[in-house]
Amino acid sequence: MEQSFVETGRGRWEQIASRPSQEQIDRFDEAMTLARQVRQNAHAPYSRFQVGAAVLMDGEWFVGCNVENASYGATICAERNAIAAGIAAGKKTIELIAITTGADPGVPMGNRSPCGMCRQVISEFSGEGTIVLLDGGMSDDFDFTGEAISFEQLLPWQFELEKN
Ligand SMILES: [Zn+2]
Repeated sequence: MEQSFVETGRGRWEQIASRPSQEQIDRFDEAMTLARQVRQNAHAPYSRFQVGAAVLMDGEWFVGCNVENASYGATICAERNAIAAGIAAGKKTIELIAITTGADPGVPMGNRSPCGMCRQVISEFSGEGTIVLLDGGMSDDFDFTGEAISFEQLLPWQFELEKN
């Protein structure tokens, strides 16, 4: 696949699959700023793996961090916490979701992209043009580097049921 990049004021993003809309691109820096901020509130005393997510749903931002639990299975990921906040506020569709693990450049994408469970939850509320922004760390020239991926690329053949 041919590599292409999209630049924002503070970031440089590898574009994977479909091109984001200009409205989405214009909000990339804001998205990752919010994700990095909320990551600082992560409750991750067991794994020490802190994650932040910012999701734009129907024009409004919602944020979430991972919340671990001593009973490990009760842990909830940042992405699902952010989406749940949007749903509770009456929002329906994810336009953009930014995710950060605080990784430095060179960390493989698989170590900083959403888990399978979160992909399925994103899929529940994703639309045609939903974009996932992954934080790839800061470079010499940019505050943000990473990938802008169309959601279909991240979870092809997603499981769906007809909604009643
Ligand atoms: Zn997850």
